[in-house]
Amino acid sequence: MKKLFIQSYGCAMNFSDSEIVASILSKEGYIITNTIEESDLILINTCSIREKAEETIRHRLRNINIIKKNKPSLIIGILGCMAERLKDKLLKEEKIVDIVAGPDSYRDLPKLICKVLEKNEKSVNTILSLEETYDNIEPVRLNSNGITAFISIMRGCDNMCSFCVVPFTRGRERSRDPLSIVKEAKNLYSKGYREITLLGQNVDSYKWSKETNNKKKLEKSTEIKDVIVFSDLLEMVANINSDLRIRFSTSHPKDITNDVLKVIKNHENVCNYIHLPAQSGNSRILKKMNRTYDRNWYLDKINNIKKIVGNECGISSDFITGFCSETEEEHHDTLSLMDNVIYDYSYMYYYSERPGTLAQRKYEDDISLEIKKRRLSEIIKKQNKHSLNRNKLTIDKTYKVLVDGISKKSSDYNKGKTSENKLIVFPKKQNIMGTYVDVRVKDCNSATLFGEIC
Ligand code: SF4
Repeated sequence: MKKLFIQSYGCAMNFSDSEIVASILSKEGYIITNTIEESDLILINTCSIREKAEETIRHRLRNINIIKKNKPSLIIGILGCMAERLKDKLLKEEKIVDIVAGPDSYRDLPKLICKVLEKNEKSVNTILSLEETYDNIEPVRLNSNGITAFISIMRGCDNMCSFCVVPFTRGRERSRDPLSIVKEAKNLYSKGYREITLLGQNVDSYKWSKETNNKKKLEKSTEIKDVIVFSDLLEMVANINSDLRIRFSTSHPKDITNDVLKVIKNHENVCNYIHLPAQSGNSRILKKMNRTYDRNWYLDKINNIKKIVGNECGISSDFITGFCSETEEEHHDTLSLMDNVIYDYSYMYYYSERPGTLAQRKYEDDISLEIKKRRLSEIIKKQNKHSLNRNKLTIDKTYKVLVDGISKKSSDYNKGKTSENKLIVFPKKQNIMGTYVDVRVKDCNSATLFGEIC
């Protein structure tokens, strides 16, 4: 049996793709190993969102080179966004790499491996597709706790945010057949999974139609609407079983609808949490980022969430500080937006110029690293204060928690998540993994709630 070691970096889409790759190669006789030294094939699924992400991969390859020296027959492949961005240039820059495969070419991996094995030639496939959704491939769950899983519902992104490489590395948007998504979710539920996260670069622009997918003649039993948008899909999945929790990521302020918010409100098993990246609090910078909304539009969406879903709805964001030409005053607009929303948490970075993006081609990266880092530390400081305040509001309240593991800090404690996506730890109890328990919050810090099972 040939052994495959697969390592993923970056976003949840990449981790989900690695499960597709594992499935494709398991049909070629590969079994997964978590011991890199015993592998015959190493695949690294890469991220390209910031310079640092690519440096991490190059560093990893230097480590792998030591293993390759002891095992010359070992095959090494680079997958994902860095593969797509650099294409065969990567083979020149990183000599130990044998295969370069982009996010839409994973069905071709068996052939690419064959070429290396039989012809001793390096192989590349970085063709992006307008159709590929891998919807008929059942993922092989990797490092799974058997309780929570990702389901990718669409691929690519049509938004051209000026700082972002994703549209170049993952191609145009295409939505997956809703019935294949429901089937995968039902399958996971039957195997004991109790939480799924629907994944897409921008789930709100999910749109599937019988017309464009030549599915006019669907059997009577599976009658579905001619056009399925995200709120429809969310409802279809929510109706599978009220014991199956549903999360989704990532939303986009330009097209999140009130219909989606109403589905959250009307279905207890659709989690009370939305990740809504703002990126900046200043309208001039948002325009320069080509985010297609301004500060007021964004705040309207936040107000809709609080009005329709409620003030307890967990809300998180992404922020980029120090974007091209950002003034101190505009930086303060981001800080004041955070004061207005009071996020539960955020992913925060300073601007990292990416080759080939609109921003790199048109704007000067003119904010010094020192100022970028200082602004980032101000945003992080504010977010930590807000996260703590939001968590303090939960003290003495009881939450329905899905138990999904053991606390990292102590094996005497179980851990789980509330519907609001808050991490909570509580004294361990036998045989509760994968079940729902009511937990009363006793204390908290900015990242974790501490409670007791009621
Ligand atoms: S929405 Fe913007 S930031 Fe997000 S993946 Fe698409 S282009 Fe990138």
